[in-house]
Amino acid sequence: MKRQKFYIDYPQEHQGDALHAYQCKHCKIDTVKINGLLENHLPECVYRIEKEKTITE
Ligand SMILES: [Zn+2]
Repeated sequence: MKRQKFYIDYPQEHQGDALHAYQCKHCKIDTVKINGLLENHLPECVYRIEKEKTITE
């Protein structure tokens, strides 16, 4: 069973021209869209892949 857990320790970077917008450094998804959920990163996101390895229970 998968628990809903928030992961916010992913590396973030400024989004091009938007002043207060940030995105995941790896998959470039908007942090607002990610909303702390691992599944909202792209499947090939390095952070997501590495994190999913640690939550195999
Ligand atoms: Zn990501």
